[in-house]
Amino acid sequence: MTPRIPLSAPDITQAEVDAVTRVLETPFLSLGPELQLFEEALAAYHQVPHAVAVSSGTAGLHLALLTLKIGSGDEVIVPSFTFIAVANAVLQVGATPVLVDIDPVTMNMHPAAVEDAITPRTRAMIVVHTFGVPAEMDDLTLIARRHNLLMIEDACEALGATYGSGTATKRVGRFGDLAVFGFYPNKQITTGEGGAVLAHDPAHALRLQSLRNQGRRPDAGWLDHAETGFNYRLPEMACALGRVQLSRIEGILACRQSVAKRYHDLLGKIEGLELPALKLPQRTISWFVFVVRLPQCANRERVQDALAARGIATGRYFAPVHLQPSWKSRQQGADRPLPVTESIARRSLALPFFNHLQPGQQKVVADALQEVLLSAGSAPIA
Ligand SMILES: *Cc1c(COP(=O)(O)O)cnc(C)c1O
Repeated sequence: MTPRIPLSAPDITQAEVDAVTRVLETPFLSLGPELQLFEEALAAYHQVPHAVAVSSGTAGLHLALLTLKIGSGDEVIVPSFTFIAVANAVLQVGATPVLVDIDPVTMNMHPAAVEDAITPRTRAMIVVHTFGVPAEMDDLTLIARRHNLLMIEDACEALGATYGSGTATKRVGRFGDLAVFGFYPNKQITTGEGGAVLAHDPAHALRLQSLRNQGRRPDAGWLDHAETGFNYRLPEMACALGRVQLSRIEGILACRQSVAKRYHDLLGKIEGLELPALKLPQRTISWFVFVVRLPQCANRERVQDALAARGIATGRYFAPVHLQPSWKSRQQGADRPLPVTESIARRSLALPFFNHLQPGQQKVVADALQEVLLSAGSAPIA
C-alpha cells in the first residue's frame, strides 16, 4: 500500500521538465554542454575551483578515495551512524574503515573519538554532515592537520549548510581536500541518481574526470586510457535536472526549514519525545530529514507499524554500519564500543519530510504519533 503521507517526495516543477525535454531534442545525451554547466554551477555555489559530476554519491566517495591514493594497508576513520555507502567505499579501495562514535547533539563524529582512533596507519577521515547538520569542522580540521590526515567531506545530506561565524562562514564542501555530494531523489536536490566531487587542486579534478570516464583524460582520444577507470558518468538529462534544482536551492532550503519549524511547534508538547535542534552554534542547518528520538520506553517497531496502519511512512535513520549483517562477518574495526551510536540509533524515527509537506499533513503526523505513543508504543523495547 502506498502511504498517504510518504517519507519523502521529490519536488519537480515545469522548469525541470522543460530542461530535461530540451536535452532530449539535442544530439548530446552524455558528456555535453549540460555537464559542464552543472559542474560550473556547483563549483560557483561552493566557491571552489572544480566540481566533477558523477553517477552517484557512492561513486563520488569511491573516486575521492582513489584520487587521494588511499588503498590497501590504510585506515580511514568514518562514523558508524551513517549510510552504509561511506564504509563500503573505503572497503572498495581495499582500505580499512575504522568506525567511531558520535556526538549526541549533532549526530556527527565526535572529535575526541576521531583522535582516539588514530594509529600510524590512519590516512584519512570521511567527515559526514549527518542529516544536514555540519560536523565540528574547527576541531576536525585541527586534528587532521596535527596528524597529517587527509579529509574527505561527505556532504551528501547537507547541500547548502554552513559552518563558521562572521566572515569565516563557509558552505560545507569547502573544508575537505575533496567533498562529495549525492543527488538521489530524497536529497535536497535531485538528478534521479547522481553525485559530484568538489576539488581545490586541479590535479585532483583531472584525476576525477579521468577515473569517472574509463581512465581517459579529458584531453585524450576516446580509446586512450591512461589508467584503469570506471563508467561513473552523469548523463545530460540528469545534469539539466540538477542545474534547475540547484538554481532553486534557496527556496528549497527555506521550505524545508519551515517544515522543520512547524514540526517543532506541533511535537514540542509530546512527553519524552526528543526533537532535533532547530539551531546550533556556528551552523546553519540544511534540513535533510526530520529525525525524532522516541521515549526510552517506546517500542519503535510498534510505533512504525501503528503509523503505517494510519498511512504514515517512517524510517529508521540510521541503522548503524557495524550492526549490519554485511558488516558482522568482518573483523576490521568492529572492536570499538559505540554506545552513543547504539543508544541513539535504537530510538531514532524519521518522520515524513519534504519541501511541500503541508501543515495539515504535519498535524496528522503529530496527532497520530502522540496517540500511538500513548497506546501501542509504550511497551518496553524488546
Ligand atoms: C545519500 C548518501 C550518499 C550517497 O548515496 P547515493 O545513493 O550513492 O547517491 C553517501 N553518503 C551519505 C551519508 C548519504 O546520505
